[in-house]
Amino acid sequence: MEAPLPTLRIALPVPLPQLFDYLPPDGAAPEAVVGCRVRVPFGPRELVGLVVEQGSADPASSLRQALAWLDCAPLLQGELWQSLQWLARYTHAPLGEVVSTALPGPLRHGEPLPETHHWGWQLTAAGHEQRGSLRAGSRPRQLAELLAEAVVDEDVIAARMDDWRAPARSLAKRGLAERVALAVAPLQASPLGGPTLNPEQATAVQAITAAQGFAPFLLDGVTGSGKTEVYLQAIIQCLAQGRQALVLVPEIGLTPQTLARFRGRLGIAVHAFHSGLNDNERARVWAAASRGEARVVVGTRSAIFMPLPEAGLLIVDEEHDNSYKQQDGIRYHARDFALVRAKALGIPVVLGSATPAMETLHNAHAGRFAHLRLKVRAGDAMPPRVRILDVRKRPLRDGLSPQVLEGIAEHLRNGQQVLVFKNRRGYAPVLLCHDCGWTAPCQRCDAPMTVHGAGRRLQCHHCGARQAAPLACPACASLALQPQGIGTERLEEHLIQAFPDVPVLRIDRSTTSRRDALEQQLARLGDQPGILVGTQILAKGHDLPKLTLVVVVGIDEGLFSSDFRATEKLAQQLIQVAGRAGRARDPGEVWLQTHHPGHPLLETLVNGGYHPFAAAELNQRQAAGFPPFAHLALLRAEAQQVEHADAFLLAVRALVGEQPHLEAFGPMPAPMPRRAGYQRTQLLLSSAQRPALHAVLDHVAPLLQSLPEARKVRWSLDVDPVDLY
Ligand code: ADP
Ligand code: ZN
Ligand code: ZN
Repeated sequence: MEAPLPTLRIALPVPLPQLFDYLPPDGAAPEAVVGCRVRVPFGPRELVGLVVEQGSADPASSLRQALAWLDCAPLLQGELWQSLQWLARYTHAPLGEVVSTALPGPLRHGEPLPETHHWGWQLTAAGHEQRGSLRAGSRPRQLAELLAEAVVDEDVIAARMDDWRAPARSLAKRGLAERVALAVAPLQASPLGGPTLNPEQATAVQAITAAQGFAPFLLDGVTGSGKTEVYLQAIIQCLAQGRQALVLVPEIGLTPQTLARFRGRLGIAVHAFHSGLNDNERARVWAAASRGEARVVVGTRSAIFMPLPEAGLLIVDEEHDNSYKQQDGIRYHARDFALVRAKALGIPVVLGSATPAMETLHNAHAGRFAHLRLKVRAGDAMPPRVRILDVRKRPLRDGLSPQVLEGIAEHLRNGQQVLVFKNRRGYAPVLLCHDCGWTAPCQRCDAPMTVHGAGRRLQCHHCGARQAAPLACPACASLALQPQGIGTERLEEHLIQAFPDVPVLRIDRSTTSRRDALEQQLARLGDQPGILVGTQILAKGHDLPKLTLVVVVGIDEGLFSSDFRATEKLAQQLIQVAGRAGRARDPGEVWLQTHHPGHPLLETLVNGGYHPFAAAELNQRQAAGFPPFAHLALLRAEAQQVEHADAFLLAVRALVGEQPHLEAFGPMPAPMPRRAGYQRTQLLLSSAQRPALHAVLDHVAPLLQSLPEARKVRWSLDVDPVDLY
């Protein structure tokens, strides 16, 4: 009998649950093969896969041979590799797809780990000699002074000086300064002083830095209470111990202002990681982290896949934010995965928020997280005064009551700024025929189209379809077509007319598709009186010291939604946007304009704030058996014909069968039954016990792809779904 052949078991980025066996490629194998990438033939294609283990096969078997080794040492190893395997099990997704989600594009496609040296600037000999003769106060002189002592990292220069590249070029042209590659960014932080912490902040920093091993914290602090200062101090201590820190921020929170604050205070290179970087830049940050060169990484959701060989601290800012949940592909939750990684790494993890998620509060109440409270605003700032404006039977013009307009005028007269918040972009949510009741629908979705361009254009916010608004009603030919309801565009139009002497800035996804557009607009506004009109994009990340009045217009839709998370989201939005008011010396006011002044949600929020609201909400969730008191998994199916989607989910339901401690609901139409031309249905699995749910998924998930009914549908499995859409 011939000896068995050694093989490689490989995870491939394909939607199939199994690993794939190949013969090793020709050529010398790396010393450790597990975690190395290989290129393999797969059908007619070539794929990049990751070696999961070594195996053996009968010499008679007809295994294909892998084509080439792509690494000479494991790309994924240690804790990150273990955690990714956990994530694949937890999301019931193929390991190869999880790996490919975790890796930046170039690495996913098989490119080598990129070079990571940093760039810095230094004075030449001539520069040192002539530094004193540069014109005093000029920008080249400022830069030369900054470089007088040593080579300075470009990130550090950027933190200390705006627009530094022009003076740098000018010095270089005169032969006074030069750009040099730094082998490794300076690892020693030289933090700059911040404010003296107040007692609550000091207690929080003390608790975090004293933690040994895995220690989850909820840093529960009202808006403006100085949570970021707590993060900074904890990071400074982490750096002093020679360890790396990772900070996650929501998509809308990662502003140049945030980065500048971290860079300026920590005095060390801070690596940003977000969707605004190109693939190569992302791969470089990942490589720098994996080599231990990046000591502090601040990033959005996918930064949670950063390798951290010398990890010391994980922070998730605004942990309640839904942008942490990936809504397609591998549906992971970055906050939850941060907890898993921190546990595997044996380090503290801080979840910060003024409006913690129900899940997080529940964990804190149960004693699983240490609960740190910051109850007062930092510095001299006072909490804003909140007022409910009953607008029943009041005349509204473009959604604004006379009282609101008067209030805005008064704040502007005092030289202050006003924020008008409306969580609806566009001109109006619906185009309505006043004669027959026709509303402009999206042809491909069960939803009306949103009116844009002051009534001239229609756009579907679900599938992106666009068209010109009809001139006459397609149903009755009437010309009485009217935009119904209010969006940010319409508010902007009205406010420009009502307040022609001050700038009115509209800020929503339509106006700020570029990351720095918002920054530039706010810079142009500066400290002069003016009005900001916007969606929740404005709710975080910017300190606007002159902002003293926040007007919330039309929250009523959110009060009566069918989604069980809707009230939580609304409460969070209201508190967050209210928190923009009065963050500096001038006291702030918040006005809620509503037709439902007696609604219990509003009353609780106004009289007690977030925690009484959350207590009531948790009671309701418990009574109704919703998360965090139940664990959910959602199977979604889409097909051209609804019968196909239902047939698939019925087959899944049959596979699930009757299980103790598990309930199955469906197949039922999704809350939006048709989107982008597809019929959508869903099957919800719910259990009070997480292990019971996962036991069923362990059994069912590997079988889904091979169900005959799966061929005609697009389906997905979402464990711990956040949106039930
Ligand atoms: P949060 O992250 O909780 O919203 P920040 O950390 O951004 O709050 O702090 C809000 C404001 O208060 C910032 O301008 C910050 O510089 C200031 N601040 C924070 N801590 C203190 C302190 N201990 N003393 C004075 N000002 C502070
Ligand atoms: Zn009509
Ligand atoms: Zn549509």
